[in-house]
Amino acid sequence: MNGKDSVRSFESQTGRTRIVFGSGTVQGLADELTRLEAHHALVLSTPGQAALAHRIGDVLGGKTAGLFSEAVMHTPVDVTDRAAAYLQQVGADAVVAVGGGSTTGLGKALASRTGLPHLVLPTTYAGSEVTPVLGETAAGMKTTRSSPTIQPDTVIYDVDLTLTLPWLVSLTSAVNAMAHAVEALYAAERTEVSDQMATDSLVALSTGLRDLYVNRGSVEARSELLYGAWLAGACLSAVGMGLHHKLCHTLGGSFGLPHAPTHTVVLPYAMAYNQPAAPAAVAAAAAALDVAEGPAGLQSFIQSLEGPVDLAALGFAIEDVARAADLATARPYPNPREVTKEGVAQLLQRATTGAPIEGDR
Ligand code: NAD
Repeated sequence: MNGKDSVRSFESQTGRTRIVFGSGTVQGLADELTRLEAHHALVLSTPGQAALAHRIGDVLGGKTAGLFSEAVMHTPVDVTDRAAAYLQQVGADAVVAVGGGSTTGLGKALASRTGLPHLVLPTTYAGSEVTPVLGETAAGMKTTRSSPTIQPDTVIYDVDLTLTLPWLVSLTSAVNAMAHAVEALYAAERTEVSDQMATDSLVALSTGLRDLYVNRGSVEARSELLYGAWLAGACLSAVGMGLHHKLCHTLGGSFGLPHAPTHTVVLPYAMAYNQPAAPAAVAAAAAALDVAEGPAGLQSFIQSLEGPVDLAALGFAIEDVARAADLATARPYPNPREVTKEGVAQLLQRATTGAPIEGDR
C-alpha cells in the first residue's frame, strides 16, 4: 500500500482551535487564512527552517506580508519585540508559525500582543500548537501564563512537513509529548476523556517511535507520532501539569538546557518520584507505552532508541543541583506527591549522572 494513502486524515476541534490533519494539507493554507478573514500573513520560523518558511510563503502567494526567521527556544522577549516591530512595518493581519514549539511560542507571543489570528503548521511533536500556555523568557527567568486567547486559531498538521525531522530530534520531541500525557494521567483535574486521550497518545507515540526507529522513511510512523503529539497537546491544554514540567521549565529557562532533550532525561525520574503517590497513573502510562517496568522501563526504552539519559551530557553541572532545586520548589506546580527541596535535589542529582532508576525494575 502506498504509505501516504494510509496516513490519518481528519478535521477536528481542540478547544477553540480548528484542526486539519493529513498529508498535503498545507495546500489548504490560503483557504484557512481566508476562513480567519485575514489577507496578509507574517510567516515565522527558526533560522534552521528559513527555507521552509520561504516555501510556505510561496504557497500563500500574494497573501504573504513577510518572513521572520529568528524564532528561538523559550520565547525570549527581545526576539518578540523585534518580530512585533517587523509585523507592524509589513502591515500583517495574521501570523503563520511553521516549525516546532519555538516558532509556535513566538506566534503565540505576537498574537497575544496584537490580537491577530494565529495559524500553526507544526513540524515537531511539542504540542504547543493546541495549548493556551505561553512560556516567555526575560532576564534568565522563564514565566508561564495561560489564557484561552493564547490558543492558536487553526492548526494544519501536515505529516509531510515532519519528514525532515532528524531521528534524535524526533525521539526527544516525542518524549516531550509523552510527558504531557503522563502528567495528565495524575493531574488533579483529570477526567475519563483526558485519561483516554493520554493513553491513546502514549500508544501512538511509542508505536510511532518503535516503527520509525527501524524504518526511518515511514510516513505511517510519522503520522502516528504527529497524531500522538496532537493528543498530548490536547492533554496539556485540558489539565494542569506537575513536577516534571516545573523541573524542565526551570532547567530550560534558568540553565539554558535544550527543551525536548531535557524532558527526555527527566521524565523517567519524575515518574519514579511520583509513583508512590500515583501508582495507578504510572502503571497506566507504562501499559500504554508497552514498557514492562514502569519508569525504569521507560528509561531503558529511551536508551534502546539511543536517546539521552543524563543531564550532564546536556550541559547541566552537578554544582547547579542545589540552585535548580531551590528554583523548582519556590513556586511548585500542583503535584500528586509533596514536592520537597531534598527530594527534588536527589532527583536532579540522579538525573545529572543518569543513575539507573531502581523502583520496580
Ligand atoms: P524547536 O521548535 O526549537 O525545534 C528544534 C529544532 O528542530 C530547531 O532547530 C528547528 O529549526 C528544527 N526543526 C523543527 N522541525 C523540523 C523539521 N521538520 N525538520 C528539520 N528540522 C526541524 O523545538 P521544540 O522542542 O519543538 O519546541 C521547544 C519550545 O517549545 C520550547 O521553548 C518550549 O518551552 C516550547 N513548548 C511550549 C509548549 C506550550 O504548550 N506552551 C509545549 C511544548 C513546548
